[in-house]
Amino acid sequence: MQQIYSHQDINGQYLPFPAGKVVCIGQNYADHIAELNSVKRPEPLFFIKPNSALCAVEASFEIPKHSGVCHNELELAVLIFKPLKNVTPEHVNAGIWGYGLALDLTLREVQSKLKKQGRPWELAKGFDGACPISPFINKSEIEYPQDIDLQLTVNGQSRQKGNTKNMIRGINQLISQMSQHFTLMPGDVVLTGTPAGVGPLKCGDKLELSLSSAKSNWQFNSTVR
Ligand code: ZN
Repeated sequence: MQQIYSHQDINGQYLPFPAGKVVCIGQNYADHIAELNSVKRPEPLFFIKPNSALCAVEASFEIPKHSGVCHNELELAVLIFKPLKNVTPEHVNAGIWGYGLALDLTLREVQSKLKKQGRPWELAKGFDGACPISPFINKSEIEYPQDIDLQLTVNGQSRQKGNTKNMIRGINQLISQMSQHFTLMPGDVVLTGTPAGVGPLKCGDKLELSLSSAKSNWQFNSTVR
C-alpha cells in the first residue's frame, strides 16, 4: 500500500498543513534551457502536480518501470503556509513557511511525445510519486534564499549543481506571478525550476541531495527503487 505523505520539518515533526498541490515552473535556469535545446520565452511556463505526486525523498522512492526514461530534476521547494492570491513580490515572504529540496521526476520520452502532440504534461510529470520531497527547513534558518547552493550526486558522482541566484525569475517574483493564476493555499508547495544536469535514474541508484546556505548545510540521502 502507498504510504500517505505528510509535510515534515527537519526535526521529523509533522507540520500542521495538508499536503497540497505542487505548482511548478519549467525552464527557470538558462543552463537547463540550453541542455534541452529549448529557447527562453517571455511568458513563464507553469504547471501543477497533484498532491498524490508527493512522497518523501528520504530513505527511498520508486520510479515508474514501464514508461521509458525517468529524469531527475533537482529543485528548491518552497512550502506555503498562508493563502497567497494576487500578491506582489514584496508580500510573498509572509506566506512562506520554509524551504526544502524536491525532485521534479519527469518521464522524458513521454514528455517529448506529449510536447510533439501539443498535449499537456500530466502523464510525464504528475504521476503518483512524481515529486519526492525532503523535510522543510524553516525560513528563519535561511537568510538568503536567493543564494542557496543545490547539489545532487548520483552514486557518488555530481550530477546537478546550481545556485538559486541563477534563476531567471527569482523566488518572490515567480510566486507572485503564480498567485495571479492559482491561489496558493497552506500546505501547497512551489517548485522553482531545475538547473542543468538532468539525466536518467535507474533502480538502485544512490542519491545525495544537498542544500547549502551561507550558514548551514543540509543533506538528504535516498535510493531509487
Ligand atoms: Zn522541473
